[in-house]
Amino acid sequence: MPRLAVVRVADADASDVPAAVGEPISVPVHADTPRSDLAPEQAARSSYRPAEDRAPEDDAPGRCEADTLPTVPRGRPARTDASSGRPSPRPREDASARRRPAHRAATTTAPEVSPVEAATVAAAPVAAPEGTDPLLELLPEGPVVVVDADGLVVTASREFARLVGAPVGEMAGTSVDTWVVTTASGSSERGEVRRRGGTTVPVRLVRWNRLPGTPHRALVVVDVSDLDEDEVVRRAVHSAVADERRRLEGLTRLAQVGSWENDRTVDAWSFSSVARTLFGLPARGTVGRATVAECVHPMDRPQVTARWTAMVETGARLDLEVRPAHDPSRLLHVRAERTAVGHRTVVAGSVEDVTERRALETRMRTSSRRFTDLLAVAPVGVAIFDDHERLVQANQSLCRLLGEGQESLRGRRADELLDLAAEQGPDTVAMPTPLLARPAGSAGSISWSCAARALRRRERGARGEFTDPVWCELHVSVSVDDAGGATHLVVFTDVTENRRVEASLRHQAMHDELTGLPNRRALTRAVSHLLAGPTARRTAVLFCDLDNFKRVNDSLGHDAGDELLVWLADRLRDGLPPGCTATRHSGDEFVVLCADVDAHGGLDALTDLVGKLLRTAVPVHGQLVRVSATIGAAVGAALGLVATVDGLEVDPFADPVAGVLAAARADAEDTEAPEHPATADLIRFADAALFEAKSGSTRVALADEAIMRGADEALRLEMQLRQALVNDELVLHFQPVVGPDGCVQTAEALVRWQHPEHGLIFPDKFLPIAEAADLLGELDRWVLRTAVREAATWPAYGDRPAASVAVNLAGLLPGDPDFLATVDEAVAESGLPWDRLVLELVETCLADLPPSTLREMNELIAAGVRFAVDDFGTGYSSLSRLTGLPAQIVKLDRGFVRGVATGESDRAVARAVVELAAAIGQTCVAEGVEDADQFAVLRDLGVDAYQGWLFARAMPGPKLAEILARGPIAPDVADAS
Ligand code: C2E
Ligand code: CA
Repeated sequence: MPRLAVVRVADADASDVPAAVGEPISVPVHADTPRSDLAPEQAARSSYRPAEDRAPEDDAPGRCEADTLPTVPRGRPARTDASSGRPSPRPREDASARRRPAHRAATTTAPEVSPVEAATVAAAPVAAPEGTDPLLELLPEGPVVVVDADGLVVTASREFARLVGAPVGEMAGTSVDTWVVTTASGSSERGEVRRRGGTTVPVRLVRWNRLPGTPHRALVVVDVSDLDEDEVVRRAVHSAVADERRRLEGLTRLAQVGSWENDRTVDAWSFSSVARTLFGLPARGTVGRATVAECVHPMDRPQVTARWTAMVETGARLDLEVRPAHDPSRLLHVRAERTAVGHRTVVAGSVEDVTERRALETRMRTSSRRFTDLLAVAPVGVAIFDDHERLVQANQSLCRLLGEGQESLRGRRADELLDLAAEQGPDTVAMPTPLLARPAGSAGSISWSCAARALRRRERGARGEFTDPVWCELHVSVSVDDAGGATHLVVFTDVTENRRVEASLRHQAMHDELTGLPNRRALTRAVSHLLAGPTARRTAVLFCDLDNFKRVNDSLGHDAGDELLVWLADRLRDGLPPGCTATRHSGDEFVVLCADVDAHGGLDALTDLVGKLLRTAVPVHGQLVRVSATIGAAVGAALGLVATVDGLEVDPFADPVAGVLAAARADAEDTEAPEHPATADLIRFADAALFEAKSGSTRVALADEAIMRGADEALRLEMQLRQALVNDELVLHFQPVVGPDGCVQTAEALVRWQHPEHGLIFPDKFLPIAEAADLLGELDRWVLRTAVREAATWPAYGDRPAASVAVNLAGLLPGDPDFLATVDEAVAESGLPWDRLVLELVETCLADLPPSTLREMNELIAAGVRFAVDDFGTGYSSLSRLTGLPAQIVKLDRGFVRGVATGESDRAVARAVVELAAAIGQTCVAEGVEDADQFAVLRDLGVDAYQGWLFARAMPGPKLAEILARGPIAPDVADAS
């Protein structure tokens, strides 16, 4: 809404202006014309005006003064002359009625009316006096001129007259062109009103080509001097620029970006407050070139100078980072550009403190470089996968691991790296889990590890084919960003070798190293598996013991023995029918397992077949060795087993052990299924049958009831023997070893078992049980402790040294971890002098001992302990072996002594042993001397000491003590018989 204000024309040329001009008038005023009417803030904004645009009259006297005069009532009476139909002529205005205000009267020197004032006047509706020209009544208020067909002025409105500065009467009859000229036509015709006096007022022209009821036309003029569009635009631009400048200043303050300008033309500098702060310039006041130069750190000045010169001379943009002189720890980013503003050259620039940003960038760059370096040198494979699990980056180690380059890996999905065939195995149908499968229920950023996965490996340099997979453990760390995108950092640890070792260990745990056959553990599992199935009653175990294998071993050496075993293992592997598997139980024992004997014609047919396979001539070390085996067999039915119909399917022609081994391989934890309770029995009964066959000198024995009873009895005895050791039911008897003079040199401790039901049991009955139950070591420890304790109490005879005690060792042997400590402890506890202890071991336990064991033995020997080779000459030992044994005593086996008086060969062996022993400084003791002839021959041969019934049987300790006290023993022919 336009506002109304009262204005008066103060400086109209009094002489030119008609009397009516200069009268107080009421005019509609353009909204922004009277500034006092604007809202304060608008007024403030509008106060800005460039100096060059400012009109001189703004400050000149004679401006319109608002609200200083009373308002003239608006409105005007009708001016149409109804009778003539012509506009009635305007009455001449009374000049006296237009009195000039006194204070203006003296200043009516302005030659022209300002455009603003003119416009104001032109727009002012004037109260029409009486007798207004009716022609004008037809026309809008304001400056209007009525023209006849010849272009001559008929009449004009008062406003027009005022605008022109000439009375209407003077204009009448003159050419309208005298007063109004068109300067531009178009939709908005422009023109000028020529004022009397020569000045012009820009106007917009509106033509009324025909006034109704007259031949005249009219010209309405609108003063646009104050509404010049350029001016409007200029004002708007200035206002917008001012707004923008304020906003910019606010923003730059916020962003701490300073601006500055250098007017090259006059070398004037201006700085925003932020720029001043950043450069360390004073907050106010002018800044000269020298000050500007000094605000840059001295070391950066040469650079600034060079770049500044380049910019000024070539227009090159200046963009550099400098340190301010007032605080060299800061870094300022300065940008500047040379521009032309009108005729002036201006350099406009910005300055920003980038200290923190650069420090952060440096930190990020360093950390990023470190990460990249770390990836490069990491000995494990590392890859980064994006949200879609596509590989983004892989380090060298991973490339090496997979045999592929970075480029060919990039973009591949994680699951494409998997070697599905290796992961699934031939029998698996289920899909393997995805490579980067999150732990169930997890979300967001999280880390986890997963067990080894098989990844494809493309052989480098090959024809691009995939080779064995590489097994990697994965450690995955997922970080989820704000937008929900996930980045996977995955570390691949190559565990292929570990798996290979593991597999090899698992294989070793289930296989015999020498022959490669499944071992005792595998056999046990397989038997257990079969006994839980439908063929339990028909499952057979055949224990096969090679006859005279020890002889081959001893005569041809261990290598030959091994070769023989490998050869036979292959023969069994190849010759056994499907459904039967050979395993190696121990030493020279093979065990054949058959899932279903009925499928192979029954147990007899099977034992027959196996017997034939093992009865052959084997080429060993270039010579044929005849071998045969004794077989003991047991079948499930003999145990009274009932077939488990709903047990696992058993293919009678499939390898019964291979299946169990495969299952164990697949089971990562190798969790053993509980053993079938009859497993040990079936194996034991087969073993018992073998024992029976061997002792009965038959080729084959089947575990019948008697054998099984015997085996059960052995088992019962084993349990009782354990108890006996704990309950001290074992006793020691001692048998004297006498010198040629009958004096007791040593007494050998011989163990007996005082059984509550069976009475005194001799060692040949229970030692095999102790051995089978792995109780020999415990038994030896007990005997050693007991024997030395007792021997320490033995009386000496006369001035002779008291008799020594000889202890047999079979389970506690030199080289055992606790051997030295056990002997040491037992002797120390008893108080027996070291030189009264003899330790008897069979030849095989003394041969081929490692240096550490020999060192242990030498320690004891140095203390006075003697070692004796027991039962020398039995088995397949050769005389030459004797020289290498770390023993001081050799005991000639009873077998040679028996025939020494009657048989030439026994005597020859005895002589050789005696002579060799003498030659190497060993004492020779003859065992089992039963009669005087044997004694006589042996004495002649030079035997050092004698043990046998001819002198004394083994006796309880107290009795021995008595005999020892009595002195030398005379040969007792009666006792020996
Ligand atoms: P050995 O070490 O050769 O012991 C000698 C065996 O020959 C003893 O049998 C003894 O009673 C017997 N003997 C002694 N003189 C004669 C004789 O003139 N004629 C005949 N026919 N036999 C005679 P024993 O006590 O039954 O011991 C048998 C085997 O048991 C021993 O043979 C030894 O190898 C073992 N043994 C005995 N006691 C122990 C022991 O405490 N610990 C260990 N590890 N083995 C023992
Ligand atoms: Ca002995």
